[in-house]
Amino acid sequence: MSKQQTINTYDVIVVGGGPAGMMAAGAAGARGKRVLLIEKNKRLGEKLRITGGGRCNITNDEDDLRKFLSHYGKAEQFLYSSFSEFNKNDTFSFFTSRGLPLVVEANKRAFPHTHNATDVERVMEEYCKAGNVEILLGAPVEKILSDDGRVTGVVAKGHTYTCKSLVLATGGASHKETGSTGDGFGWLTALGHTVSDPTPSIVPLAVREGWVKSLAGVTLEAMKIHFYVDGVKKFSKSGRLLFTHFGLSGPLILNSSKQVSDLLHEGTVTATIDVQPTRDFQALEKYILELFDEHKNKTLKNICKEFVPAGMTGAVLAFFDESLQEKKVHSVTREERRDIIHLLKAMPLTIKGLMGFDRAVVADGGLVLEEVDTRTMASKKVPNLYVTGDLLHINRPSGGFSLQLCWTSGYVAGNNA
Ligand SMILES: Cc1cc2nc3c(=O)[nH]c(=O)nc-3n(C[C@H](O)[C@H](O)[C@H](O)COP(=O)(O)OP(=O)(O)OC[C@H]3O[C@@H](n4cnc5c(N)ncnc54)[C@H](O)[C@@H]3O)c2cc1C
Repeated sequence: MSKQQTINTYDVIVVGGGPAGMMAAGAAGARGKRVLLIEKNKRLGEKLRITGGGRCNITNDEDDLRKFLSHYGKAEQFLYSSFSEFNKNDTFSFFTSRGLPLVVEANKRAFPHTHNATDVERVMEEYCKAGNVEILLGAPVEKILSDDGRVTGVVAKGHTYTCKSLVLATGGASHKETGSTGDGFGWLTALGHTVSDPTPSIVPLAVREGWVKSLAGVTLEAMKIHFYVDGVKKFSKSGRLLFTHFGLSGPLILNSSKQVSDLLHEGTVTATIDVQPTRDFQALEKYILELFDEHKNKTLKNICKEFVPAGMTGAVLAFFDESLQEKKVHSVTREERRDIIHLLKAMPLTIKGLMGFDRAVVADGGLVLEEVDTRTMASKKVPNLYVTGDLLHINRPSGGFSLQLCWTSGYVAGNNA
């Protein structure tokens, strides 16, 4: 028999060795199924390794299931059933019982106690091995085989692998360098499914103003940002902000990006950052007046760091003439002082757009949920096909909700395939 004709048969084939695929393969293996996990990269979980800046925000510790699921927007109802089978409590027990307890940080974000995403990948790989899952690496699946409305197998590297059930876990289309090139979307469409176009979601913003770029690398805790379309305020959010060489990132921005994406269709989107959100205008003026009084003979430039967040003084001063920067604060006029306060309460920005797929945490879009069985993650069109993780059209914010979706959908698919 030539290499091209080699055929191996499995109960379950899982395509894609990310978090959803590893969970699905491990769960199917734990049921005694003969499972093959196929990954095109030379190792599993490339994207998983960069999650949470390498620390892996593995889930969210929100106890109230209703609140937890409300983060998935329109998919809330769809997810009740699968989350009753595997939810964040199960994620905590799953990793803790495998020697990787989780710790909870601000906004209920949970991380492995080692703060190392590689440990999460290791636990998942061990889970697969415990279920005797065969793992085929460096093997891009080129083709999904189907016959009479059912999937029958896949072709990878010229070999045919047949199966009774197929789990697709090839991820979305963000950060393509990790292997998530959106292959699953094309296969689903070819199998008769409806796939809504992927667009970058949970993504940094590109801005026009040069002062932002000068702050690349600076992080500000608890800032407030207001977004406007053609000068009309649309929404505001608070949180951690990160300046980058192309614009803005950090949880505050990532969690605003979906709404900003919609606003960009309406007109020119601008924003203002309040870098003194805990003081209103009057309170800030009082605070600055007291500082000026205390340090009468210092120049504005020297006293600036007392009321401007660390790392930002240069950018703030650059808005003003050198003569004002060098002025002793006792001779700063009321008007000049108020200009400074106005700036601190509303540093101006123009949003050029969203950064692309290469910088998106997740890409929106995917298989529409009407075509998925809520209890099993099985396709309603192709009965022995299961779909998981980022392939599903489910919006969510950052904060551990994406990975929880992978653990849940992967587990449910693996338990039913
Ligand atoms: C920078 C960054 C940080 C993030 N941080 C967090 C975080 O802290 N918390 C959180 O909840 N979420 C985070 N996410 C989102 C999270 O990583 C994804 O939601 C998650 O990885 C999706 O898992 P998945 O298994 O569906 O797909 P993926 O992780 O994309 O895995 C899919 C796998 O399929 C493989 N594959 C694709 N096509 C083929 C093919 N043809 N043949 C064989 N294999 C194939 C790919 O190589 C890949 O390994 C982050 C994302 C990014 C980009």
